[in-house]
Amino acid sequence: MELSHRDITYCKNVGAKRADILRKELKVTTALDMVRQYPYKYIDRSRFYRIAELNDEDTYVQIIGEITEWHTIGIGKAQRLSATFNDGTHQCELVWFQGVKYVKLQRGIKYLLFGKPSRFQHIYNFVHPELTPMSKVTPEMTQGLEPYYNTTETMKRHGLNSKAMRNIIAELLPDLRMGVPDTIGADILQHYRLMNLTDALINVHFPKDTPSMQNARARLKFEELFYIQLQLLRQMKRREMNPGFAMPLVGSRFHALYKALPFDLTGAQKRVIHEIHDDLKSGRQMNRLLQGDVGSGKTLVALMCCLLAIDNGYQTCIMAPTEILANQHYETLKTFLKPLGDAVHVALLTGSTTAKNRVPIHNGLMNGTINILIGTHALIEDTVQWQNLGLVIIDEQHRFGVAQRAKLWSKNEIPPHVLVMSATPIPRTLAMTVYGDLRVSIIDELPPGRKPVQTIHYLLSKRAQVYAFVRKQIQEGRQVYVVFPLIKENEKLDLRDLENGFNEMCEAFPEYKISMVHGQMKAADKDLQMQRFASGETQILVATTVIEVGVNVPNATVMIIQNAERFGLSQLHQLRGRVGRGGDQSYCLLLTDSEISGDTRKRMDIMVATNDGFRIAEEDLRLRGAGDLEGTQQSGIPFDLHIANLSTDGQLLTLARQAAMDILDKDPLLEDEINRIYKRRLDALRIESPQNWSEIS
Ligand code: ADP
Ligand code: MG
Repeated sequence: MELSHRDITYCKNVGAKRADILRKELKVTTALDMVRQYPYKYIDRSRFYRIAELNDEDTYVQIIGEITEWHTIGIGKAQRLSATFNDGTHQCELVWFQGVKYVKLQRGIKYLLFGKPSRFQHIYNFVHPELTPMSKVTPEMTQGLEPYYNTTETMKRHGLNSKAMRNIIAELLPDLRMGVPDTIGADILQHYRLMNLTDALINVHFPKDTPSMQNARARLKFEELFYIQLQLLRQMKRREMNPGFAMPLVGSRFHALYKALPFDLTGAQKRVIHEIHDDLKSGRQMNRLLQGDVGSGKTLVALMCCLLAIDNGYQTCIMAPTEILANQHYETLKTFLKPLGDAVHVALLTGSTTAKNRVPIHNGLMNGTINILIGTHALIEDTVQWQNLGLVIIDEQHRFGVAQRAKLWSKNEIPPHVLVMSATPIPRTLAMTVYGDLRVSIIDELPPGRKPVQTIHYLLSKRAQVYAFVRKQIQEGRQVYVVFPLIKENEKLDLRDLENGFNEMCEAFPEYKISMVHGQMKAADKDLQMQRFASGETQILVATTVIEVGVNVPNATVMIIQNAERFGLSQLHQLRGRVGRGGDQSYCLLLTDSEISGDTRKRMDIMVATNDGFRIAEEDLRLRGAGDLEGTQQSGIPFDLHIANLSTDGQLLTLARQAAMDILDKDPLLEDEINRIYKRRLDALRIESPQNWSEIS
């Protein structure tokens, strides 16, 4: 019987109880589901170790030798058995705490020892090893790679450990060899030289050697990534069939601002504005991601795009992730737009806009007199009605709350164009999945004349040196940020750190004025403090990461990051981006404890070594990555990846995306007969899409 039709209950070594657990814990209901549970690691059983070559990094090893001596200590439940194992050169110790009476040892025969060594003083120990007399060792036992499976606590409690999983799957092997229908067409398998599904499933569980295991995994990873890409790209293609507001005109406001700018746009800025304008005039809905490093001038690009839309008779809005940023955008835009006089009307709507002040804004949006509305993401909770919203720009740190955004334009017959700006550079592989349904524009050039920020790592013990440096900078007329970590779980403690830090700065710099901002302050107080710093009234700003994104005070040249070990790389880079915005040389000083781990050390080294945000983002993913799904989930990946890994499988991802794109270019809705397998599997998989806003409209 086909594996997909076989109920897991009736498979060998399973039964009703285990079937129930498999269903609840792993969503396994059929034999096919079972063979789709991939091992997370393999142990090479063809390799034999000598005791002398063990080192502290070995996980599982096997050794041939004899038991020379053993004794039990204690009685009853507390009994423990320890034995000395000798491989002819050295000896190690074997220990059992449980089931001691079942362990039968014999002198003078050879054993195969299998287990995980740990070192105690000068001798290696194996706790509860597998010990098999050589006469009972079958060739299969020491052949190839032994698969290990993830299991949950509940599973283990019912005896469903990795070995049990292995046994269940081993029993399905004969049926698996009869073949399972492939999920990828023969043409693609051939073109990308991929294993067929049957061989891949056999070899992912019981590979005969490392290359076949790797080929099997590559095929399964490709498949996983391929279907995610197919889903994302199908959504993109569908959306691109949506009608969109046509904005062909490059009008007077756009030209007026362009002429009034105090500098030239960079080549990259011009290029992305062209890319965006091509979308805006196409008559199709735009869905585009704008990426650029900190300080690359995304805000101005956003404004120019708004003007394109406004000149064509549409309203626009910009959503920011925090209130501070919304305010900042508002101020920035007003400054840029000053030379245009009354030609463009900008309004700000945030959580702290009073009911009274909302009335004229709501009216202005309704009668079309407001051209650009700036607000926080909370803006979409508001009951705003537009006359003709044509372009939505979303400035975001992390992708979340997508469904909510749909509210913004769910009332429109034709959905507005959407431009998503990523506040920080994101690694290529993340961009292809988290934002995989968007076209991408990249600003890969900083405005000219920027002096790269110099980054220096200090241990806390060198604080006096840091303060002396700060004093010198302030004496030269510069300003300084001091940032403390704020981590959600630990807000109270962090706040205390911040307040202590503030007091410390006050004591260290009695001659200067100091502002402080943190997330728990009232918006108005925050504003006031920020304002005092921005205007130069205060010289030092002590803050939590609320200043992370977007804040722009060109006269600030020093960024001190306290407890830098508690920040991720991308966050550190983002914070560093707050300085180096004026003509003066700027500095980023990373302060850490003297006892830092290897990873922290690496993070500091990378920060010191490079200012390239894209490189930092890649390193960040690599450091956090490698199977650390949590890390990627934080970045907003809405899919569970079972086998592929975004930090290491970038190349496969690129190929998978290409393969998916090739299919959809010819058949965007997957209607052709030859693409039936893809359509069916997509529907069956129900990959949750990262955004469904356009479909709501
Ligand atoms: P981002 O949002 O990409 O981090 P911003 O839009 O805040 O960057 O721009 C950083 C600074 O660079 C701002 O002060 C902005 O006015 C300035 N800027 C933008 N484009 C240019 C340009 N082409 N030449 C010089 N300065 C620019
Ligand atoms: Mg910005």
